[in-house]
Amino acid sequence: MTTTARTSKAPVILWFRRDLRLHDNPALERAFATGRPVLCLYVLDPAQCGRASGAASLWWLDKSLRALAASLAERGGRLILRRGDSETELRRLIDQTGADAVYMNRLFESEGFTRDADIAHALKAEGVECQGYNGALLTRPGSVLNGSGGPYKVFTPFLKALLAQAEPPPHTLGPRDMSGASKVASDDIDDWGLHPMRPDWSGGFDWTPGEAGATEALSRFIAGGLKTYGKGRDHPSEPGCSRLSPHLHWGEISPWRAVQTARDAAAHGKVPAAEAEKFVAEIGWREFSAHLLHHFPTLPDRAFRPEYEAFPWRDDEAGFRAWTKGLTGYPIVDAGMRQLWTTGWMHNRVRMIVASFLIKDLLVDWRRGEAWFWDTLVDADLASNAQNWQWVAGSGADAAPYFRIFNPTAQGEKFDASGAYVRRWVPELRGLNDKWLHAPWTAPPEILRAAGVRLGTDYPRPIVDHGEARDRALAALKVVSASRGDD
Ligand code: FAD
Repeated sequence: MTTTARTSKAPVILWFRRDLRLHDNPALERAFATGRPVLCLYVLDPAQCGRASGAASLWWLDKSLRALAASLAERGGRLILRRGDSETELRRLIDQTGADAVYMNRLFESEGFTRDADIAHALKAEGVECQGYNGALLTRPGSVLNGSGGPYKVFTPFLKALLAQAEPPPHTLGPRDMSGASKVASDDIDDWGLHPMRPDWSGGFDWTPGEAGATEALSRFIAGGLKTYGKGRDHPSEPGCSRLSPHLHWGEISPWRAVQTARDAAAHGKVPAAEAEKFVAEIGWREFSAHLLHHFPTLPDRAFRPEYEAFPWRDDEAGFRAWTKGLTGYPIVDAGMRQLWTTGWMHNRVRMIVASFLIKDLLVDWRRGEAWFWDTLVDADLASNAQNWQWVAGSGADAAPYFRIFNPTAQGEKFDASGAYVRRWVPELRGLNDKWLHAPWTAPPEILRAAGVRLGTDYPRPIVDHGEARDRALAALKVVSASRGDD
């Protein structure tokens, strides 16, 4: 990207991607600071980050773009929508308006990053100025390196280095007056068909996409869950976490705003400092994932530890289907998968449990789970999704050891002790008391009868025996150890 200063009066294109906000938006600030007319553009381009968005992500994008367009309109501005190849659409807008500059916040997935650089290179050769900024992460990938100048592969030293060097940018609100751009043609978002129609499965999506929704979610969290975040974040029936992930993914709020607001709350004695820093550390995991993917572009496709490519995965289509539908017979797993299907989101603790179940109890390749999450999560993020699936699989950079296998019953009893989460998402088990709720197959027949549960009819029996599955998983691991050359 160039840094050339210009004196032109031609319009500037502000190319929105995953920075769908007006506050704390560096590309937007700089574009308006030129004093030239600004054309706000969004291009619906399936190839933008190297993989087409999933259905739940498109649901979110639809609402987020509408919210952004409304915010721009309130300030006299306008969002131009185009669909197609990004470079072609940029060129078309340049031809139509005489724009001679493009300002954007960078994408950091390696494919998006390279593509942006190629586009910038090609446009620059034709005299178009291109400016790229970091609006997505606390620091630019490539800027946090270890003592040998390479990327960190372990989270804790990465976080330490990140927090030591990252400087918060000043909080900005965006220009008040965004009028002045020409009335060039735009697509109608209704024609894009991003909202599911036949059928519309989004009835349970209880979200408010957009910048206002993001700010509201952050305020709610600061006033509530953050106070006891360290413990509360592990209990899926409690409002213990921020639910900011889709807002952060789409750039409706900057990660710095989330970090600074939490730290300000601690500085004013509203929340304990340790809780605020725990939250900052979780934002750090997002950062770690993005930096890893930037340096290791095959993260979504190949095991980070190559020996795991030898893992003897099973081709268990029936097991995979039961998992996607929340019909495995393990209540905490089924509750999580149904929460995901119904709301487009799943609690972090339960994501770990369901991922462990797919990988270790069913021995289904983590890539199948990653792809299912990609399609069904509103926060589907190439870096965080791949990094976390590999973390659970044991094949990731700083992964949980493979031999640590979650027992879904024990996890349910520990983190959903009241049973509120399972009762909400698996209503057919509502009548069972806590003692049997997380392992209904162990309940005596009279207890099941009294609770109105017929196993195998109203609710499935477990599709695998966890004890046997655990032994099978550990045996499979020996193949990995052998390929690594362990004893
Ligand atoms: P909070 O607990 O409030 O955390 C605040 C923010 O920190 C989150 O919004 C998120 O941006 C970040 N964060 C928290 N935990 C993690 C983590 N483990 N890794 C990376 N960032 C984290 N998160 C995604 O954003 N997109 C994904 O596609 C995704 N896929 C996942 C797949 C698996 C198998 C697992 C185990 C986790 C995945 N996560 C993913 C991470 C995590 O589950 C979600 O970020 C979190 O549940 C979002 O809820 P929250 O906003 O309330 O989180």
